[in-house]
Amino acid sequence: MGEFSFIQWIRKQQKRRRDVLVGIGDDCAVIDVSSDKLCLITTDMMVEGTHFDLKKCTIRDVGRKAIASNISDVAAMGCQATVAVISVCFPEYTSERFARELYKGIWDIADTYHIEIVGGDTISGRSPLCINITLLGKDNGLKPVRRSGARVGDLILVTGSLGGSILGKHMHFEPRLKEGLLLNKNFTIHAMIDISDGLTADLYHILEESHVGAIIHEDQIPISEAAVRISKTTGNTPLYHALSDGEDYELVVIASKGQARKIMESDLFSKNIFSCIGEITDSRDIRMKYTNGHIKRIKPQGYEHLKS
Ligand SMILES: [Mg+2]
Repeated sequence: MGEFSFIQWIRKQQKRRRDVLVGIGDDCAVIDVSSDKLCLITTDMMVEGTHFDLKKCTIRDVGRKAIASNISDVAAMGCQATVAVISVCFPEYTSERFARELYKGIWDIADTYHIEIVGGDTISGRSPLCINITLLGKDNGLKPVRRSGARVGDLILVTGSLGGSILGKHMHFEPRLKEGLLLNKNFTIHAMIDISDGLTADLYHILEESHVGAIIHEDQIPISEAAVRISKTTGNTPLYHALSDGEDYELVVIASKGQARKIMESDLFSKNIFSCIGEITDSRDIRMKYTNGHIKRIKPQGYEHLKS
């Protein structure tokens, strides 16, 4: 069983309600809560040992990351985050000081984005530390950007630089909430996703939902300094890390050629934040155009929790 096929199964079994505009299969669910307002919902769970290692980071870092990864999902819909409910299972005999540190990490970033913690559940058990955050968002009068709107001929933009996030960025990234909102408000965005699994894996989610393919250019992939550094210890190329490492929490943005050009030239964003890495095609797969001119099909690679 693979994580994504398992999710597909749940999605197919699910009876749909009319007020659920977006159910399983995107960065957030979107619920029609009144005749003119939408509610976005996203949730993420983190478990000690799988998602973080308290020997390598502080509990405050864990709190920050737990909410930041949820904020990143709302950013990927081009909407505004509002309130969160947080459920935590602490290991037995956890001190209150330690528990408070977790929440300090959460507030470090929740306050920046005016997100209020409105409830949750705190328990302890004979288990590693588990934290689940459910974050709500609102549409701000904008249409949430889906994964399903990419069209043949559109350009593929990404923010920031990619790869090697495990060297630090995966705990300390800044979610692209401001950029997501600015994009949705000022441009026509056909599809968007945040990079949690890896560039090719997350791009592939867009391709599947939109029933299209993509060609990306080797020399246009924004390779981070961390990708170069980590490649020296893994033996993989920096390009490999930029394509397949997860948890950069950058945005993949799909827009028409005209809109993409306007985004690249816009002074609403910090300079050189966007790279244009390729184009949407009708091939239903991902192809890479190498610097030497060769074009090869590449497999979407990234992190998956359940292996098939
Ligand atoms: Mg996401």
